[in-house]
Amino acid sequence: MKRRDAHTACGKTRRPRCSIPASSLFHDIHEECGVFGAFDHPEASNLTYLGLYALQHRGQEGAGICSSDGKQLFIEKSMGLVADIFTEKRLKRLPGYLAIGHNRYSTAGSSVLKNVQPIVANFALGSLALAHNGNLVNAAELRAELEDEGAIFQSTSDSEVVVHLIAHAKGDDPYDRIIQALNRVSGAYSLLILREKELIAVRDPHGVRPLCLGKVDGAYVVASETCALDLINAEYVRDVEPGEMLIINEKGLRSVRVFSNGRRAHCVFEFIYFSRPDSSIFGYRNVNEVRKEFGRQLARELPVDADIVIPVPDSGVPAAIGFSEESGIHFDFGLIRNHYVGRTFIEPKQSIRHFGVKIKLNPVKKLLEGKRVVVVDDSIVRGTTSKKIVKMIREVGGAREVHVRISSPPTIAPCFYGIDTPTRQELIAFSHMVEEIKKYITADTLAYLSLEGLKKIVPDSGDFCTACFDNDYPIGFPGEHFEQMEMLFR
Ligand code: AMP
Repeated sequence: MKRRDAHTACGKTRRPRCSIPASSLFHDIHEECGVFGAFDHPEASNLTYLGLYALQHRGQEGAGICSSDGKQLFIEKSMGLVADIFTEKRLKRLPGYLAIGHNRYSTAGSSVLKNVQPIVANFALGSLALAHNGNLVNAAELRAELEDEGAIFQSTSDSEVVVHLIAHAKGDDPYDRIIQALNRVSGAYSLLILREKELIAVRDPHGVRPLCLGKVDGAYVVASETCALDLINAEYVRDVEPGEMLIINEKGLRSVRVFSNGRRAHCVFEFIYFSRPDSSIFGYRNVNEVRKEFGRQLARELPVDADIVIPVPDSGVPAAIGFSEESGIHFDFGLIRNHYVGRTFIEPKQSIRHFGVKIKLNPVKKLLEGKRVVVVDDSIVRGTTSKKIVKMIREVGGAREVHVRISSPPTIAPCFYGIDTPTRQELIAFSHMVEEIKKYITADTLAYLSLEGLKKIVPDSGDFCTACFDNDYPIGFPGEHFEQMEMLFR
């Protein structure tokens, strides 16, 4: 396929500026995460464990919980899945009435225990633990500066920069020190801080990642998504507002507006792919509903003559339902997913056709044989999944035609605010026209949701970050080169 210098779906190619010391290029600042916290509950650690369990989709590499009994902090963290890490014995080692927890995902190279959060540190005003969802875009510069001043970092995670900045801040007021620290960082953060007797929740001024407040048995809980509240029977109270700091302690709940209202930039990809469909985010809008609307809009924009609509499970399910409802084309599960696939599996010596994808997904031949099939997924990143799926639907499932419909616009730019995307060069839609991608994935037709269509569906679309689709980054980068920024995030 022909490569192009210009991408296909966006006019602007804004190149943020960046000059970052080479020594900092190895720092891992590439994370997708989930956070949960509870205050004033006798089972704070158990609730946090359950909250993290519900947020497992936000990060599967490692998890940790830090609790407090009002006098000291207790921490347990490991690589792996929440349910495997937190045995009853381990949860018993987390006493107290307040706790925070964190699920972490990172790229393979940096999957090490030292990067698993919460990060616990002692500073002039006592102990604190910190759990962070999102990415800071100026972490490498700040880290280099702090290292120059003699700071010794324990991890390669960007979140540790915040801890050091709090420690370096001046004064006796802990909240003011946190504010001083946050005034220096730029990027996305939904942040939980635990001190001996209080829980502090802060959201960046743009509100990039979700964060909500709930209540259960009179106790406050804070979570990345409402699905974590549902599991513990907590009622949703409200979102933590962009730029807001919530201080929850024995005096109750206090809200401090840390940053004045700037441009909101909620991550639209949370609606498209990342959040769980049963969650309601960004002003309590249900993710499943929005995804179904994307599917409806897609069917309106690009109708197709077909016999059956099938989703790529699980990511394409709500949009495929919406597509079917709007188009009147029958919906069914034409691909069945094996939910128990681990990261690695032993492939037999004798090669099996389509093995890589068949281990996860199997077509239902009875449904697909001889049919004109519309297959709906939420996004194409590198194009490898779609290519394999289309081939399998045709060759194994026996479909007569395969029409691919994607419920988001072409992904043309990487995310620097906390979604795991590869560099532009690896994003197929950065360098290829839709027609070329269609040929590459061997589909009969391929269509993406338009950016205008997406913005029609998302409420107050001006409040959203759509950088991965239009290259318009709402939070600027330090320095000179976009390419350096990409290197940092790989
Ligand atoms: P690809 O094969 O690289 O085109 O990947 C496309 C598939 O990856 C789609 O089925 C998406 O649902 C899924 N996907 C999109 N974004 C992400 C992400 N940030 N992390 C993991 N999977 C993703």
